Amino acid sequence: MVHPVVYHPDFKISPLKDGHSSTYVDAFIAGTISAEKMRQIGLPWSEELVKRTLIGTGSALLAARLALQYGVAVMCNGGTHHAHADHGTGWCIFNDLACAARAAQRDAGVEKVLFVDLDVHQGDGTAAIFQRDPSVFTFSMHCEAQSFPSPLQTSDEDIALPAGTSDGEYLEVLQETLPRLLSRENPDLVLYNAGVDTRASRQRDRLVFASCADASVPVACAIGGGYQEDHLSIVERHVLLHRAAREAMPKYSPLVLADLRSMQLTDPKKDQTEEE
Ligand SMILES: [Zn+2]
Repeated sequence: MVHPVVYHPDFKISPLKDGHSSTYVDAFIAGTISAEKMRQIGLPWSEELVKRTLIGTGSALLAARLALQYGVAVMCNGGTHHAHADHGTGWCIFNDLACAARAAQRDAGVEKVLFVDLDVHQGDGTAAIFQRDPSVFTFSMHCEAQSFPSPLQTSDEDIALPAGTSDGEYLEVLQETLPRLLSRENPDLVLYNAGVDTRASRQRDRLVFASCADASVPVACAIGGGYQEDHLSIVERHVLLHRAAREAMPKYSPLVLADLRSMQLTDPKKDQTEEE
């Protein structure tokens, strides 16, 4: 199901400031951000970039809200996990899922959040933002041979796999790790960065969804990475995640969904009206 809500680019920006410094957010939106910081991000500043970034971050908030309502929700973009609190790197400006985590905690009664970051690069920005926050557990499984990000940050759990790891070995490690973390951390919400720059397999996404459904934990997904010139192959990888999500939805029993619906996020549009 495609949700009909489209976020207006002027949606309230306070969620951004939950994950980022106020100075950084204001400077990026106003276009007064330094050239050095834009160089770090790797994109030229423009009003269109601001709009795109706000819509992208808004969609992460929406995904978290819908996951709490339906069990599973998938964005068509996002996973901007290289954005830190006061600067962006690697084409990531605001850390969409970090903002969504904070919004879910503030507005939806979510106490514990588990990040599952399976992009081929480490989720360094996410790890740094939640470094000293015991209410958010950051798990990143990535490839140790990547030269970016540098330096790496310390997630609550990092698994750096060697290049050339087979699908079977990869899934074995994930199967050993994810159910253990879900059981030990007992999160109210999983935020999953399903990076398509990993050798993405449908089994990986199925495993994530099955583990979350078994633990009755809602999961909101972003799709990180995807830099190939062949756009069709990127679309095909995105579709794998959406198909796996659709398969997983029936696994959330009506009983679980009733519980989740009592924790829905407030509607950002309503907040905006109230602020005016
Ligand atoms: Zn990546």
